[in-house]
Amino acid sequence: MDEYLDAIRHRRDEIMARVDEALERSRRAPGSVRVMAVSKTVGTPQVLAAIEAGYGLFGENRPQELVRKLGELAEVSDLPPVRFDMIGNLQTNKINAVLGRAACIHSVSSLHLAEAISSRVQRRIESGELAAAQPVLLEANVSGELSKSGFTPDELRAAFPRLSELRGIRIQGLMTMAPRGDKSVARSTFASLRELRDELAGDWPGVDLAELSCGMSEDFSEAILEGSTLVRLGRVVFDPAFELE
Ligand SMILES: *Cc1c(COP(=O)(O)O)cnc(C)c1O
Repeated sequence: MDEYLDAIRHRRDEIMARVDEALERSRRAPGSVRVMAVSKTVGTPQVLAAIEAGYGLFGENRPQELVRKLGELAEVSDLPPVRFDMIGNLQTNKINAVLGRAACIHSVSSLHLAEAISSRVQRRIESGELAAAQPVLLEANVSGELSKSGFTPDELRAAFPRLSELRGIRIQGLMTMAPRGDKSVARSTFASLRELRDELAGDWPGVDLAELSCGMSEDFSEAILEGSTLVRLGRVVFDPAFELE
């Protein structure tokens, strides 16, 4: 594990240098973007190495994995506080598994799912099992790719009045995934996400949409240039063989 730890420490320095560079290029404040380590392809030993390397925010795309890793980490003494978010497709029958465990659910991709989360949260608040509404992000499909989940911009505009009334969720921002392979297409996808956010935030006084969760291993610099506040990095964090361009 020592060699692995050295490799991901070194990689973290490279990632942070690129994050700082993109923030500077876009005249944004240092520290205004958070880096999530997406641990879906690795086990708890690699997560422990990542914690040692300095990461404190993790993302999982399957509820069972999130629950399993949190359980294994709970057995480890003297860990600094770490946060896990749910970033993947969430089926309604798995909602209960992540409530109270995922600090934020990034992948609320439909009104139906938002309502299902909200009603379960409210039930749990009433029974005293949960203290507060669940922080969530609304997943938007701004690239128009049919294979991607999420609200289309028009669906999101139409659903927003109802979404903003749901008492069991606290909407904190938007999330998207860009098409793979072309950085300029990715960049315009991120710009569209920011514009959609600005439009919705203006229309709904009091609604906080500060978080923009976008940017992955291949396109996080572009995402930061377009206002990302949280980049979700998997391979570039955990795979020493991944080529950071
Ligand atoms: C896997 C995954 C990531 C990380 O992808 P990489 O290309 O490995 O950085 C980010 N977001 C979501 C939703 C994912 O499923």
